[in-house]
Amino acid sequence: MTVFARLLGYLRPYRAIVAAATCATALFALLDAAVFVLLIPFVETLFVEGGAGRMGGDTAMTRLLEASVYRWVDPVGDPVAATGRVIVLILLAFLLKNAFQFARIYLLARVEQGVNRDLRNAVYDRLVGLDLAFFARVRAGQIISRLTTEIEQIRMLVTAELSRLLAAVFEFGAAFAAMLLISWKLTLAAFVVVPIAMAVWGPLVAVLRRRDRGVLHLGGEVNAHVSETVSGIRLVKAASAEGLERMRFRGLTGAYFEHIMRAERARALALPMTEMLAAAGTAVLLWYGARLVAAGELSGAQFVGFLALSLKLYSPVKNVAKFPATALPGLVAAERVFEFLDTPAEITDAVDARAKASFDDAIAFERVSFAYREGEPALHDVSFQVPKGSLVALVGPSGSGKSTIVDLLARFFDVSDGAITIDGTDVRRLRIADLRRLMGVVSQETILFHDSVRANIAYGRPDATPAQVEAAARAAHAHEFVAKLPRGYETVVGERGLQLSGGQRQRIAIARALLSDPPILILDEATSSLDSESERVIQDAVEKLLVGRTVFVIAHRLSTVQRADQILVVDRGRIVERGTHASLLALGGTYRRLHELQFDDSPSAEGVGIRVP
Ligand code: ADP
Repeated sequence: MTVFARLLGYLRPYRAIVAAATCATALFALLDAAVFVLLIPFVETLFVEGGAGRMGGDTAMTRLLEASVYRWVDPVGDPVAATGRVIVLILLAFLLKNAFQFARIYLLARVEQGVNRDLRNAVYDRLVGLDLAFFARVRAGQIISRLTTEIEQIRMLVTAELSRLLAAVFEFGAAFAAMLLISWKLTLAAFVVVPIAMAVWGPLVAVLRRRDRGVLHLGGEVNAHVSETVSGIRLVKAASAEGLERMRFRGLTGAYFEHIMRAERARALALPMTEMLAAAGTAVLLWYGARLVAAGELSGAQFVGFLALSLKLYSPVKNVAKFPATALPGLVAAERVFEFLDTPAEITDAVDARAKASFDDAIAFERVSFAYREGEPALHDVSFQVPKGSLVALVGPSGSGKSTIVDLLARFFDVSDGAITIDGTDVRRLRIADLRRLMGVVSQETILFHDSVRANIAYGRPDATPAQVEAAARAAHAHEFVAKLPRGYETVVGERGLQLSGGQRQRIAIARALLSDPPILILDEATSSLDSESERVIQDAVEKLLVGRTVFVIAHRLSTVQRADQILVVDRGRIVERGTHASLLALGGTYRRLHELQFDDSPSAEGVGIRVP
């Protein structure tokens, strides 16, 4: 299906409005041509001795005018009174024409904004449906571009361009019909330039298409750079990289500028070229028209009317001719948006996916291997078992694959080899929503949305009652500080809202997890230590969270590691050691080394132990 056909598909829900707008456009065009045709009786009553149609040419137009206008405007009597009546007719035509103009513009705006809204929704739906792998691959700025600039460009195409095309077709039809009524020979002469115009346009459009694609891609890169700078501004400043970033940005905007100018050069050629072709056409017309008038085939007044109509005709012809060029940015944008809409999500429910409401027995990784990118395996042959109710600690240097293990469990990615099972069923055979509902994540980077504290705690549980939210907050030791916020639970936090401290954010995350009450908990312990007061409070909240759950913890604290039923030591994507704290220390291998490096010197390690109830 071509881009164009698919775009028209988006118009389908609005077909009634499109039909109404089309009628309004047709009537508008008809009245527009009528205004020019009325010039004929005006000139005839004023200048032609003895009234209309007395001088040369008994054309179809003469008969039409006789049957309509001249019934009301007396062509023979007082010329001043007669022209007055013609002027009234002209004004009436103008009035009606503009009433239809209004209807046309308004209706088309509804269509364009409707299509815009639908496209935006479609892109957003696809966006949230895509895999994490997609977001790791595509830059955020490119995605934002799809939702903003490119959809805006499509909107321009749908209305500005498509409606111009529609209007042009009707204006052309009306003027063309009127011209035929005056003289078919002259009409034919007016069209000799059309084939030449076509021959010129084809190649120009091809060049423009290529260049416009380049422009859009670079526009996305410019956006991406800005959004990455904004999100990484701390790093930029800390590294004193402002100058470097400025240079890189200038490089990008410079290239963007060059590309736009190349596209604009081709586009700028379009108008003068059509203008020249139009002038050539008019010259042919003047030359041939003068001969027809001299031969008495046409009255002077009709020739004047014809000329006016033909000048008017060039504007729709011009619009139709340049449509391929002006529509291009929109079509190219549509192509890119559709490409995005067609991006397949790889992680989807199997057709026979099973429902699962509870976790009953055990989780098992069976010879799991995984690579984010071909040839760069992040996990090799990882196998382990986690019985229900136990706590497994993942330890290992940063980048060793600990987060990858828990991401695979939640099916944010699918294993490349081997299998992960829950109660003996491969996670790929479970309904994804059910699988993820079994799990809760508390990580060191707590994400807060721009919304109230209540909504942030109840995220994913919109049915939670205020009492439940508060109970969870109390258990997470969040209630104390939330109650002191300016508007309590209704205080808006997160980006652009009130900023909370790291410890407060963690407590919100714990409250969120307590409220959703998942049987499996994934805990990414904070590496940075907090002040010992919040440290103690948070450990206490975490402790409540651990009770009665199966827990995977990416462990940075001695206290958690010591009490783990099973410690998995991960190094470069492999499990290199496994056992309990005591057995691994006795082994004297990687764990012992890590332990000495990571845990012994940490200020939080010894002082703040978990008080096992
Ligand atoms: P850890 O949690 O132990 O710090 P990770 O599981 O995050 O380690 O990372 C394991 C390896 O996979 C690292 O080499 C990391 O660079 C790579 N990796 C992690 N996430 C991605 C991703 N989205 N795309 C590509 N590579 C990734």
